[in-house]
Amino acid sequence: MKLNRGRAVTSMPGPSVIPDRVLSAMHVSMPNIYNGDLIDISKSVFADLPAVARTTGQAFIAISNGHGAWEMALTNTLSRDDKVLVLESGRFAVGWGEQAKMLGCEAEILHAPNRASIDPNDLEIRLRADKDHKIKAVLVVQVDTASGVWNDIAALRQAMNSAQHPALLMVDCIASLGCVEYLMDDWGVDITVGGSQKGLMVPPGLGFVWANAKAMAAHKSADMRSPYWDWTARLSEQAHYLRYCGTAPVQHIYAMRTALDMIAEEGLEEIWERHTIFANAVRAAVAAWSTPGGLEFNIIAPSQRSNSTTTILSGSIDSARLHKICEAGAGLTLGIGLGDLAAQSFRIGHMGHLNPPMVLGTLATVEAALLAMDAPMSASGITEAAKIIAKELAS
Ligand SMILES: *Cc1c(COP(=O)(O)O)cnc(C)c1O
Repeated sequence: MKLNRGRAVTSMPGPSVIPDRVLSAMHVSMPNIYNGDLIDISKSVFADLPAVARTTGQAFIAISNGHGAWEMALTNTLSRDDKVLVLESGRFAVGWGEQAKMLGCEAEILHAPNRASIDPNDLEIRLRADKDHKIKAVLVVQVDTASGVWNDIAALRQAMNSAQHPALLMVDCIASLGCVEYLMDDWGVDITVGGSQKGLMVPPGLGFVWANAKAMAAHKSADMRSPYWDWTARLSEQAHYLRYCGTAPVQHIYAMRTALDMIAEEGLEEIWERHTIFANAVRAAVAAWSTPGGLEFNIIAPSQRSNSTTTILSGSIDSARLHKICEAGAGLTLGIGLGDLAAQSFRIGHMGHLNPPMVLGTLATVEAALLAMDAPMSASGITEAAKIIAKELAS
């Protein structure tokens, strides 16, 4: 019996669900790319982007995925032989650090405690020991999509201030912008990196970098600048065309315009709150499913779990089979385990354009698959998740 008809559902931590409104906005024939509507809309996208990161800094758009935006951030602000301190709490900061190394930087890794977020004290101790300020940048991820951890960026900044260390603070918010509270200027972040396909509800293909005045000053003396990524060329007063170092990503600009409108209509605070509620619903279900030796949260402390994605250790349960049952049997695609957790975890993304039927449907389908596998469960997660949603519906 095949149940798998209807619309397929992806509950991966990116690419996330693209709203129909965004998809429709992309359905346009090719406009004039030198002036007219497209240029006006593109200018409005650049003008509205800083508010998404809560900054008055400069926004840049790369025609790339998140990895491209990482490279844009590094090459524009650092020099060969600069040392970067990579705060590792999952998988992604290390990937960013590996890029820095290949570009000619020295990369040192500071690990978070096992299954936890970066400890600001560890950062402060390391920076205090760096007496002659060899470390030029601290690289950290707000939400690591592999481990499901949330790092407290404000506390990490505080640790840098306490150590009176001048390094640039660079934060990867690819899996958290448009999902989780983020205040670039209030928190004193120098560089923020984002991508279009997660909380920002646009297909993969745009990378974003936001730079404050300190980052723009560092840019002046950076010697890793390269023609395609270079900010100076992109900011020149000549044709708007140069903002993209060539042909604009036409359909993505229309998509981004619509996504920014949707974000403005809902309001960032409301978006963060909605993600908190959905994350609580997912966590209530996972807590109910958890058993000794069976499923459990990867991140141990509840306050360190991300509101945009949850990583679940699968214990004795065959996560590959769970995936297969969900996807082939029910049309639900979950996130696979990444890195060291590849064989022993799965992930539920809860980011972006979501409503209760989507979240509850995902959870109920996972539970059905667990039942189909005869997997151990402490209790039904569906009721616990529904209670979280019910509390909100009643208010
Ligand atoms: C998805 C993701 C990336 C990589 O983005 P790509 O678009 O796949 O290059 C980097 N960092 C984090 C935290 C992510 O979630």
